[in-house]
Amino acid sequence: MAKAIALRTQRRSESRGFSPGCKEHMKTFNIINPATGAVVGAAADAGAGDARAAIERAVAAFPLWKAKTAFERGDILRRWRDLILKNEEAIARLMSNEMGKPITESRGEVKYAAGFVDWYAEEGKRAYGDIIPSHAGAKRLLATRQPVGAVYAVTPWNFPAAMVTRKVAPALAAGCTVVLKPAEQSPLTAVLLAALWIEAGGPADVFQVLTTADPAAVSEPFFADARVRKLTFTGSTEVGKLLYAQAARTVKRVSLELGGHAPFLVFEDADIAAAVTQVMATKFRNAGQTCVCANRIYVHASIREAFVTKMSDAVRALRVGDPLSDTTQVGPLVDRAGLDKVASHVSDAVAKGARAVVGGQAGPGLFFEPTLLVDVVAGMRILEEETFGPVAPIISFTSEADVVAAANNTPYGLAAYLWTRDLGRAFRVSEALDYGIIGVNDGLPATPHAPFGGVKASGIGREGGRWGLEEYLDVKYVSIALP
Ligand code: NAD
Repeated sequence: MAKAIALRTQRRSESRGFSPGCKEHMKTFNIINPATGAVVGAAADAGAGDARAAIERAVAAFPLWKAKTAFERGDILRRWRDLILKNEEAIARLMSNEMGKPITESRGEVKYAAGFVDWYAEEGKRAYGDIIPSHAGAKRLLATRQPVGAVYAVTPWNFPAAMVTRKVAPALAAGCTVVLKPAEQSPLTAVLLAALWIEAGGPADVFQVLTTADPAAVSEPFFADARVRKLTFTGSTEVGKLLYAQAARTVKRVSLELGGHAPFLVFEDADIAAAVTQVMATKFRNAGQTCVCANRIYVHASIREAFVTKMSDAVRALRVGDPLSDTTQVGPLVDRAGLDKVASHVSDAVAKGARAVVGGQAGPGLFFEPTLLVDVVAGMRILEEETFGPVAPIISFTSEADVVAAANNTPYGLAAYLWTRDLGRAFRVSEALDYGIIGVNDGLPATPHAPFGGVKASGIGREGGRWGLEEYLDVKYVSIALP
């Protein structure tokens, strides 16, 4: 059934302009299932000419979409949400096949993705302005909010549905038009979402998807064209910096959701069982390939042994295997480069004195054993870079001040977690951590109506909630002198 929908989507897409029949689109590229190596499907391989054509359509569609009321836009968004939920199983299977996410997580992601559409269908109606108390009796001062214009959106492979709707739903609700370029590892989910947008009655030129195996070439026309008013990017810090510089050429508004290196602090007064349950959820979700995965687990020396024993049992019990099986908890890494990075972090740590109490080995294929490392100390790569894999390094600490300093000693600042029953410490430490998102006794804080985003090298701007809508609105000040 998923296959039928994907094929239907491709045909629909071709007839609606996602894969225009121009020369460049005669080319396609294959999407490979990381669990099996099988070809999942083919996506149109767009080039710079297709990008220029998509920009023309997005720019032309903007005034018409902007002129609709937020209520009219909300009606279409709500129908889109309904169709996403109706096709939950097909979208979930497609995602699992494209990038190896366990199917139960994929189903959860579809609901999460629909949650953004649901929220912004309503939130668009609350793009309020202000009346500013005037300094002059014969003047009235207004601040209104208007959509920024045509938007270029670039998304990663690790959340093929939610990263799309987290950008597209607020942009469309605000009155912007969007051209989205999904990651080359998992583009078919975005194509399917765009097809459902059209089925919901959404205009084809208002939300377009450009799939490509050459992201730099396709992106260039967007950066060169001043009519594209905004770049919104989610991906690695390395690529984010490049695109930030490119966007400066035509002074675009920019939102960047970049890499993370999340610390997970377990204090001596923590509920150890709850902390282990939550660290397992945040560490091993998506095989450790999320930007908010716990990457450094700091455990107070007095409870370290109990924590490691409990966590070792939990890591050993993880079920690794076929992403399409309902019982699988950990799937493969997305590609060879991802696997090699994880393996190199583990071998570097072990060479410098760490011990793998569970796992530690790569294989078969793109799988990596769920791994628990102890005796991890400063100077190991795993404490300096985002691992993006199913490896949990444990570091001991004894003082609150030292562990906060260690947690902040990174260029990144996306998510941080702390476990304590002491209310004073919960406030003190969450205020001291230089991060955009803090989970206090909560390993899974993300939700569509709350702000998501980082500080420092983790990005600029926020997605989710009312903050996510602001990213697509410009403030316009109107001063009226009364006759
Ligand atoms: P990536 O930076 O390699 O790719 C992201 C996107 O950028 C893809 O669509 C890719 O095609 C595109 N891209 C790559 N090079 C480009 C270029 N030269 N010009 C234009 N586009 C280019 O990241 P990834 O491997 O897809 O995703 C993993 C990264 O994303 C991790 O670092 C993760 O932390 C981060 N991430 C962040 C968030 C967040 O909300 N902060 C969410 C999910 C993932």
